[in-house]
Amino acid sequence: MYLDFSQKLNKVLDGVTKCLIIPHKNPDADALGSSMALSRFLTKLGKRTKIILPNSPPNYLNWMIKNHDIVSYEESPHKIKEYLLKYEIIFALDFNSLKRIGILSKEIEKNNLPIVMIDHHESPEKFSTLSLSKPQIGSTCELVYNVMKSINHKLIDKKIATYIYSGILTDTGSFRFPLTSGDTHTIISELFKKGINHTKIHEKIYDNFSLNRTRLLSITLKNLKLIENLSVAYTILSKENLKRYNFKKGDTEGFVNYGLRIEGVIVSVIFIEDSDENIIKISFRSKNKIDVNKFAKKYFNGGGHKNASGGFSNDSIIETENKFILSIKDFLRV
Ligand code: 5GP
Ligand code: MN
Repeated sequence: MYLDFSQKLNKVLDGVTKCLIIPHKNPDADALGSSMALSRFLTKLGKRTKIILPNSPPNYLNWMIKNHDIVSYEESPHKIKEYLLKYEIIFALDFNSLKRIGILSKEIEKNNLPIVMIDHHESPEKFSTLSLSKPQIGSTCELVYNVMKSINHKLIDKKIATYIYSGILTDTGSFRFPLTSGDTHTIISELFKKGINHTKIHEKIYDNFSLNRTRLLSITLKNLKLIENLSVAYTILSKENLKRYNFKKGDTEGFVNYGLRIEGVIVSVIFIEDSDENIIKISFRSKNKIDVNKFAKKYFNGGGHKNASGGFSNDSIIETENKFILSIKDFLRV
């Protein structure tokens, strides 16, 4: 399946020298890691590349982009407009709907550049010229790795392997989510042969809490509530909670998973009051057959994957909480 895509990609890239790479808004290690890996790989193929971000990444990923000239639309819209005029092709990584890159999508729609999408979310939308869409694969980094491998595996060096490992690690929940496969582990073994330091990568990604972030986690756990015969856990972070602990983007990453540690809990949810965008941002996580992608789509303007999805609400915290209690009861009863 990768050989066929790679052959098509080689054709599309024939004669192209300048490539833009775009991951989704609020990039995580999979989005940014796959972008960094592909950028380095394309450079080795003799292309000029530029990664453009819808907004700036969270601090915990700064190590990944240190010393790289990466611009965000939020900070430098004019620069990005210029790049869109000068560059010849766009790689869209780790998203399958233009909504996921916010207002940057308007610029892209204006420019009509060919788009190559590589992604692993459900229900892809049609905006690309060429796409590799595999919802059955646990991370975009796994897809990008396989594409690079089938083009020229010798060009994959320790740095590329480190980016790829980071995305696979986080999107598989440290190799435990259901989409983690034997093939995923074979790739990890190949990344080890490229010289990655997995202990260092884990430390960079996970052992980086500030004291404030640790305190915010304690409030998140304190606010946990259980409903529906105790099989659903949810928690709320109000704007006051966030302000008190000097919330920085990315600080709440992973907090939603804690609810699933409670025995018998099959759905865990976090509601976060986003006073900048004036919405309640919501993350859903579930176990086994419970499809929170469907739930997020049906009730909260969202989507994602079967066991990990997100959405938002324009209502107040209280209204959102009440709507959630009613809708999740309804959903689980079906
Ligand atoms: P998270 O809860 O970590 O922000 O996101 C979990 C998954 O849901 C990610 O794969 C992400 O792409 C997806 N997701 C998060 N928020 C949204 C949203 O507002 N809309 C859609 N369609 N997907 C989302
Ligand atoms: Mn991903």
